[in-house]
Amino acid sequence: MNYQETFENAIEALRDEKRYRVFADLERIAGSFPKAIWRAENGLEREITVWCSNDYLGMGQNKSVISALTSTAEAMGAGAGGTRNISGTNHPLVQLERELADLHQKEAALVFTSGFVSNEAAISTIAKLLPDCLILSDQLNHASMIAGVRGSGVAKQVWRHNDLEHLEDLLKAAGNERAKLIVFESVYSMDGDVAPIEQIADLADKYNAMTYIDEVHAVGMYGERGAGICERDGVMDRIDVIEGTMAKAFGVMGGYITSSQAIVDAVRSYAPGFIFTTALPPSLAAAACTSIRHLKTSQIERDMQQRQAQQTKEKLAAAGLPVMPSQTHIVPVLVADPDLCKKASDMLLEKHGIYIQPINYPTVPRGTERLRITPTPLHDDGLIDGLCDALVDVWETLGLTKGTVDANCRIVAEEGRPQAALYPAAGG
Ligand SMILES: *Cc1c(COP(=O)(O)O)cnc(C)c1O
Repeated sequence: MNYQETFENAIEALRDEKRYRVFADLERIAGSFPKAIWRAENGLEREITVWCSNDYLGMGQNKSVISALTSTAEAMGAGAGGTRNISGTNHPLVQLERELADLHQKEAALVFTSGFVSNEAAISTIAKLLPDCLILSDQLNHASMIAGVRGSGVAKQVWRHNDLEHLEDLLKAAGNERAKLIVFESVYSMDGDVAPIEQIADLADKYNAMTYIDEVHAVGMYGERGAGICERDGVMDRIDVIEGTMAKAFGVMGGYITSSQAIVDAVRSYAPGFIFTTALPPSLAAAACTSIRHLKTSQIERDMQQRQAQQTKEKLAAAGLPVMPSQTHIVPVLVADPDLCKKASDMLLEKHGIYIQPINYPTVPRGTERLRITPTPLHDDGLIDGLCDALVDVWETLGLTKGTVDANCRIVAEEGRPQAALYPAAGG
């Protein structure tokens, strides 16, 4: 067995498929969001504009959030000092959990070190505790939810993305008596579409199933107090478990679930991914709490984000760029080829000082490779114009297909233009 060679071959396989990932060396500049310093491989330093951050509202540089972080670290130290099992809970984390329960109008909340861990730990534990549970999982669920489903070891069926009829067929076949856990997301972050939450809750009632939703790409950004799409749609009380992150729109770090007292207490008591890992540091808990409180009352960030996302969609579409249909703040532009997607990203950075990470398989299906753009309140109209010009230049230089994107994730070329030979083999 040649160990080194095995790993080298594994890396080579990714390179051959043009999906070897490279992370840009960046330094975000607090106070100048969305600007950052990029350090190129040749040692060159350059100020660039980030267009793919999940710090969706720029809260990571909010002055009161930073000050909560630094003052709490000064007062309580850098780390948490241990797992909560061993060392108890630092008070800022107690306050944060109260804040989260209130945000989602649930009895209780439980914080994890990340959103990934919260999904993995909560889904697997809940499903394991339900006797003979069947998990019904949306086809496009995030890797962390799939990890939870797999980790539970229980039976699972995958329902076609957002397809209520398919979900109902599976529920009906399982019968009312069997324990069933429906797991899905509110905003799907690669396409920007939204789940029919109310209808899913109706089906859950009809067939006596439990519901678990991931609102990671919605918390802070939708609903009157920033609790997400369930709040916006008036259905928070109809979903059993709401999961979220403090790492995206709230701009900090950490994940959580909110639910009934009994469910939260059961996960707290049984989930290894909660029990056997050091708690979030008090500084991060205090910063997250400050951010959540701010967004509970402040609408300006949400309003501006929606406005700038809409502006971006309109301007790019008007320039003939293949903007994928999105119902949310996410603006995906289809390239439909892994190599060209990477080349487009490289050219944006090197020639135009614009950073947009290419999105390739397995994050999205093969043939649907894309640039995923996330405008924030701080991407002003001038930056949007600059982005549009840069994308048009890249599209023309690389000969990428312009046009509109149909429901099967294919580019329908502009009228009068020749049909490019670039059509993807498989749709989304
Ligand atoms: C990012 C993400 C997570 C994980 O959240 P982190 O806090 O970054 O670990 C979970 N679910 C979805 C849908 C995500 O996109």
